[in-house]
Amino acid sequence: MTRIAIIGAGLAGLHLASRLQDKADVTVFEKSRGVSGRLATRRIDDYEFDHGAQFFTARSDIFMRFLAPFISSGVVQPWEPRVLTLAQGEKPYRRDWFECHYVAVPAMTSLCKAMAAALDIRLHAHVTGISPCAGPPRNAWSLQSGGETLPELFDWVISTAPLPQTRQLFQGPNAEPDILSGDEQADVLPCYTLMLGFETLPSLPLEAARVKHASIDWIALNHSRPGRSALPAMVVQSTHAWARQHVDSAEGQVRDDLLHDLANVLATPLPEPRVMALHRWRFAKAEPPLDTTYFLDADRQLAACGDGFTESRVEGAFLSANALADALVQRL
Ligand SMILES: Cc1cc2nc3c(=O)[nH]c(=O)nc-3n(C[C@H](O)[C@H](O)[C@H](O)COP(=O)(O)OP(=O)(O)OC[C@H]3O[C@@H](n4cnc5c(N)ncnc54)[C@H](O)[C@@H]3O)c2cc1C
Repeated sequence: MTRIAIIGAGLAGLHLASRLQDKADVTVFEKSRGVSGRLATRRIDDYEFDHGAQFFTARSDIFMRFLAPFISSGVVQPWEPRVLTLAQGEKPYRRDWFECHYVAVPAMTSLCKAMAAALDIRLHAHVTGISPCAGPPRNAWSLQSGGETLPELFDWVISTAPLPQTRQLFQGPNAEPDILSGDEQADVLPCYTLMLGFETLPSLPLEAARVKHASIDWIALNHSRPGRSALPAMVVQSTHAWARQHVDSAEGQVRDDLLHDLANVLATPLPEPRVMALHRWRFAKAEPPLDTTYFLDADRQLAACGDGFTESRVEGAFLSANALADALVQRL
């Protein structure tokens, strides 16, 4: 049976693995201690923060069909917060959503956890390099992880890591140089997420807000999502442009700047948070993403997919993985 190594257990990697597992011997390697990638949830004491993707929409029939069983089982549910647009010095106004915005329940990680149940996944497995091994009996790839070369060989290596990490892996000294480079360079922008847990919150006229501000782009009350802990938990996301300017700033400075700007945009004094944490997403969003749906080198049996291709959001990651799966099943 064909042996496939998939790097990354976000939505793209897990969907690809589910599609291929009947046709091949598939192993997913994930560097973190859990699955889900940027569909992320952080727990601090009893507080919960969905600190990566905030929601997802389903505009294509194929993604909607994929979601249908998860919607039926309640793992995916609509989120209908009261959303405002906030701009400093302007009167806040209500922002209506005209399409369904979904979240996973009870945490953003729940969708990927449900998908992962039937898959062979190795956690804490950071793949740091890949090397071609010449046959006989057949050419294959070996993987480096944890400072050593893994004993298994793979016929295919497929990366679903964010583009800069995929490039780094595929441009190692033993692999073909310049794969995924040339004209197809996409910039991958950072983002900061500030997580604030309160004992109580003053009454706010919003459950989420799109913010027109230099540093803050989005605010959400995490406890307004279905199935979450009732403890007041606020997620504040920076703009990508501001994060890029401050990507190497000291954590304390970034936190203080965001807290200061938050107080200004909310125009309401907030109590002292009981818990506070900052997360830096170095690779949050491809801007612009590559205009191909996936990368496939059939001769070398190397491929890549994920949200860096076509559209840098949850549905884009799914569509990229699904299209690559369509192309690969014909070859297995
Ligand atoms: C702050 C933020 C807010 C967002 N908001 C939204 C939103 O509201 N709506 C929306 O639709 N999208 C949103 N997105 C984008 C969305 O989260 C992503 O498009 C989607 O989750 C990408 O899925 P993926 O599987 O392609 O990549 P990922 O989820 O990044 O999965 C890749 C996985 O690969 C692993 N990995 C990387 N390198 C290696 C390696 N060398 N070895 C082993 N494992 C490795 C990573 O740990 C990760 O788990 C947001 C993203 C961020 C960061």
